[in-house]
Amino acid sequence: MKTEHFKKKLEAEKTRLEAEMGSIGRQNPAVPGDWEPVPSEIGMEADLVDQADVTMSREGNASILADLEARYDTILSALSRIEKKKYGLCEVCNGKIEEARLEADPAATTCVKHL
Ligand SMILES: [Zn+2]
Repeated sequence: MKTEHFKKKLEAEKTRLEAEMGSIGRQNPAVPGDWEPVPSEIGMEADLVDQADVTMSREGNASILADLEARYDTILSALSRIEKKKYGLCEVCNGKIEEARLEADPAATTCVKHL
């Protein structure tokens, strides 16, 4: 098992996701680990049309953020499995996850049989 190789891939994706989430959202100070969208334009509220645009882009960002956050959680749990030396084991049968599958998705939690 090339754990180091997959760890690097996971860390690269984690960094990329953090940058993406940071560009459209900010960490919710009240809920650690939770991200909330920030409006991309500030100070446009005077114009109703622009306000509608801002609201729409905020809603779009919220759903993008939710996807990024879900993926981010998956990456974090894969990294924590590396720490616990459980990386690459199927969570259903405890068998080894195929390396080709991990290559395609280093955060995979099940073997090909248990997709
Ligand atoms: Zn399995």
